[in-house]
Amino acid sequence: MADKKNSKKNNRNKNYDEDYNPRFKKQRKKVCPLCSDKNFVLDYKNAEMMKKFINDKGKILPRRTTGACSKHQRDITLAIKRARAIAILPYTQD
Ligand SMILES: [Zn+2]
Repeated sequence: MADKKNSKKNNRNKNYDEDYNPRFKKQRKKVCPLCSDKNFVLDYKNAEMMKKFINDKGKILPRRTTGACSKHQRDITLAIKRARAIAILPYTQD
């Protein structure tokens, strides 16, 4: 019985590659959205723009997600915190 169950599990992914390791997924190099677009001006009063850098809980996205460079990630963080203070962005969302 146990063998049958296991074989079913293994056959589920037909395209399963034995060498596949999620750690070495093909990674596309992320480019900082602020560096790549020179016309992009971070504006803490622009809620739509700031929403790109927070998740659905209202948390600030990490650099690995936004792809921003360290300099611009700091700018983004500061802008989000300013936006929160003037109630444009939420501190939290359930
Ligand atoms: Zn940058």
